[in-house]
Amino acid sequence: MLAPGGTIGILGGGQLGRMLALAAAELGYRCHIFAPEDDPPAAAVSAAHTRADYGDAAAMTAFAAAVDVITLEWENVDCAAVRHLAGLKPVHPGAHSLEVAQDRMAEKQFVEWLGGRTAPWAQVDSRAGLDAAIAQLGLPAILKTRRFGYDGKGQARILAAGDADAAWEAIGGQPAILEAMVDFAHEYSVILCRAADGTMVDWPVPVNVHKGGILATSSLPAPALVRRQAAEAAALARTVAEKLGHVGVLTCEFFACRDGLRFNEMAPRVHNSGHWTIEGSHTSQFENHVRAVVGLPLRPTGLVAPRVTMTNLIGDDVADWPRLLADPDAHVHLYGKGEARPGRKMGHVTRLG
Ligand code: AMP
Repeated sequence: MLAPGGTIGILGGGQLGRMLALAAAELGYRCHIFAPEDDPPAAAVSAAHTRADYGDAAAMTAFAAAVDVITLEWENVDCAAVRHLAGLKPVHPGAHSLEVAQDRMAEKQFVEWLGGRTAPWAQVDSRAGLDAAIAQLGLPAILKTRRFGYDGKGQARILAAGDADAAWEAIGGQPAILEAMVDFAHEYSVILCRAADGTMVDWPVPVNVHKGGILATSSLPAPALVRRQAAEAAALARTVAEKLGHVGVLTCEFFACRDGLRFNEMAPRVHNSGHWTIEGSHTSQFENHVRAVVGLPLRPTGLVAPRVTMTNLIGDDVADWPRLLADPDAHVHLYGKGEARPGRKMGHVTRLG
């Protein structure tokens, strides 16, 4: 166990790192951010910032020497770099979690191997391979890059065969998968936290609404169809965490279909669909993640109100801050990002009811 006063290194400097650092500070820990940006949101609330590229081995080594334990808020750090760090200091979650979560194909194969059901999919490595995948799965379908996709980026929808060229071009002709379009009623996520001794907690399941591929709201309680599937989804997510030897928060996103659940994707980290836990749960995803990383016991995850809604402030939404900050029922979180570009997550608001 790392005693309060110790330093947690965090790979990545975005809002997730910022909220992790705030939770760590409450427990008496210091955070040291490793991120290439000049003034990342997490560094503004942390004790130290190493500004270097994730590929800078010397900077990584110095970073490891300056911290007691390492975690991450961004899962696309090179696995070799994470293995290098793991030879110097404990890293949670470990490279195995990243390896699987970084590659949509590895992720789907892993979950299917564990008995989970995904959208029907096919590997696509070339333009001709895309035609073969379309012939196999039919249309409509979604072409997704295997790596570095987030918030709807690296994705292109194919509604008719004539869209294939444009879709292949839109994703930059990278290794990809084609997924059949799933006719889902809702989307939801299981957010769990696993301690190094294998103890696990999971939070009540929010229903997630996306707009333009970006999460717009997470709300609880979820609709009845989701609640009926939640136990099965949580059991699958727990098996995933166990088989990965994952330590920390793991998020698995699901489609709620009339004929049962389908796994969509996982993130080996705290997640936007868990931001509501800061005010809406006995313990936030950020606090339990910090606890798992430093070896403290995990705390309970129940709801503290009958209804909770988290709304993202995306792009210009944040211009509404004077009204939101004057609203006594709004728990407002602003990430301290300078420019409100379209699609950029600038903050979020949680309301309990
Ligand atoms: P992803 O990055 O894979 O989570 O995709 C972003 C969003 O696109 C999801 O949250 C869904 O709203 C939608 N989406 C992704 N895959 C599918 C699918 N196979 N069928 C229907 N909608 C999808």
